[in-house]
Amino acid sequence: MTRPMFSFSNETDPHINAAAYRLVEQMAHLDAEALKGKAAADPDIEDECLALPMWNTYWLVSDSCDKRAIERLCCSMMPEDEDEADALLANIGIDVEEIKRDHLSDCYECRTCQDGDACSEPELDEEAYVQAVIEMWDECNSDDYWLARSGWQVVAGTGILALEVDGDLVLGIDGAGYSFADSHWIPLYKELGYGWHKRYAREARIGEAARDVAAVFSNLNGKTADLPPKLRAALQELQAAYASLDSGRD
Ligand SMILES: [Zn+2]
Repeated sequence: MTRPMFSFSNETDPHINAAAYRLVEQMAHLDAEALKGKAAADPDIEDECLALPMWNTYWLVSDSCDKRAIERLCCSMMPEDEDEADALLANIGIDVEEIKRDHLSDCYECRTCQDGDACSEPELDEEAYVQAVIEMWDECNSDDYWLARSGWQVVAGTGILALEVDGDLVLGIDGAGYSFADSHWIPLYKELGYGWHKRYAREARIGEAARDVAAVFSNLNGKTADLPPKLRAALQELQAAYASLDSGRD
């Protein structure tokens, strides 16, 4: 029995490859027009021009268990706290400390604050800092900014983008020219922590054992009269079951 798998992949475990393939196979494809139609029907998506990751193929997560599991991995692309804003600034090559200096505010607790003088230990006004970083990101005219504005989130550890639209979860990939299996789908399968590949490995072992038994049985050339009848019947059963499997494995 051969399971379909990604043909262009460096994954060395064929069962993980096949499991990741199955994960993607149970998603439905959406083109940009269909996605725009769904977004237009969703009152929560206000952007009149929905930013889309590149290419024209999106994946609708059809299975409700997969949907819930992937949603747990989703995180916002918009910076929401100091650390995320720091990371974003560093990413777009802007001096983090310089911007932070512009968003310090009095602490109102130190001695100089209490004396009404300029604060000696000013603190970062986190909300103003995060807002300033978002505005700088906007000015960079980055595609990521518009994706984030449209509500796209990132699926942690996978490089995949996700959008909740009209009650559904849609995945998109903003890239081209490399193996999606190795860069996105197999990492997604691993992040989900599913055990499908373990079951595939067990089934493969059972298949191998059945093949070995079938080979031994046929080598007996019908000289099975000495075998206990129940064992003979079980071996015949196993041989027939093996013969009925898809023999495309080798
Ligand atoms: Zn102070």
